[in-house]
Amino acid sequence: MAETSNLIQSTQKILHKALDMLGYDEGMFDLIKEPSRVLTVRIPVRMDDGSVKVFTGYRAQHSDAAGPTKGGIRFHPDVDRDEVIALSMWMTLKAGIVNLPYGGGKGGVICNPKEMSQRELEGVSRGYIRAISQFVGPLKDIPAPDVYTNAQVMSWMLDEYSMKHSDNPLEFITGKPLALGGSKGRSTATAMGAVMVIKKALEKRNIKMEDARVAVQGFGNAGSFISKILHDEGAKIVAVSRSTRGLYDENGLDIDYIIENKDKTPDIAEDLGAKVLTNPELLEIDCDILVPAAIANQITEENADRIQADIIVEAANGPTTEKATEMLTEKGKLIVPDVLASAGGVTVSYFEWVQNKTGYYWEDDEIQELLEEKMNKSFDEIYDFHETRQVDMRLAAYVIGIRKTAEAIRYRNWA
Ligand code: GLU
Repeated sequence: MAETSNLIQSTQKILHKALDMLGYDEGMFDLIKEPSRVLTVRIPVRMDDGSVKVFTGYRAQHSDAAGPTKGGIRFHPDVDRDEVIALSMWMTLKAGIVNLPYGGGKGGVICNPKEMSQRELEGVSRGYIRAISQFVGPLKDIPAPDVYTNAQVMSWMLDEYSMKHSDNPLEFITGKPLALGGSKGRSTATAMGAVMVIKKALEKRNIKMEDARVAVQGFGNAGSFISKILHDEGAKIVAVSRSTRGLYDENGLDIDYIIENKDKTPDIAEDLGAKVLTNPELLEIDCDILVPAAIANQITEENADRIQADIIVEAANGPTTEKATEMLTEKGKLIVPDVLASAGGVTVSYFEWVQNKTGYYWEDDEIQELLEEKMNKSFDEIYDFHETRQVDMRLAAYVIGIRKTAEAIRYRNWA
């Protein structure tokens, strides 16, 4: 697909610039520009109607130079190989940014969980792990949830892995339920991490939380929790949206009511006295912070000039194109790039892995404190680099994100 191969190309372009800034030669770029390994698997699943359906899945392992690869598995009809590759590269950057001992990995299965029974979903989850089981493991490649996968899917996957290996390593996979070795704070970690960097961005722009007007595109795990946390902290959430349409009220929306009636959005507009708006309209409304928390390629050169928000926090992967990033930066907007804004999930996944390895489990406040420490430090590092070196926030994030992997590669003498 043109759009997703663009994702790889634009990632490579920025990576190249980042490696240049760090003083590495072409050999380093040549190694890092693609994943070390990309698996394609075919997964036969007996469906409820008795027929067998074969699903296609992928697992990309970008670089294991700095440690085992790590990253989520998405179940979605639009999954494709190039997208999984780009996402695995971004995982290397995320892990580098928050300084985790991992490289990046990513997986995906082309399927539509919304049209499948729980039994069929279990079949796909188990079949996928069976197919990749030789290539993953607690010290090789550690999966986690992503779009349309959750703690239940992780449980089936862990169970399949333990049966296959006659062992029960809870640290094989993260994002598990608490009863199966999951970590406190993991389910809201991506949103919490995004909120932490939103607070830092507000500080930089001298905006108080209670004065902040926020628009959130996407009301999934990240978008809904981000809206809820910011709303509870006093910000005005002026717009939210789901895949088709959204709600807008310049005086602020009742987020609790929207969460309670999530499936009825936007039909609840009347109850709330809110206006209904489209996703492209949401991006362009008058607000201080815009949080794209849905899908890639939302802010492009076509609409970048009409974005009114002063701060753009990318809770989704790849919502802003390269050209749009340039245009927004030129206008003085502060972009908190996806590889930083969405790093909270993998950070708490790391805490989960450490807890599983040691067998000692932390309390919620300890997790939040550790997460905040990491997110704040990463934000400061990237923001300072952006200021002192006069580069946009994305390039700054790539430099900080790839530094450790490149250094590990150098020490291993791979490039
Ligand atoms: N899928 C999430 C991400 O893209 C989490 C990955 C993980 O926890 O390993 O960051």
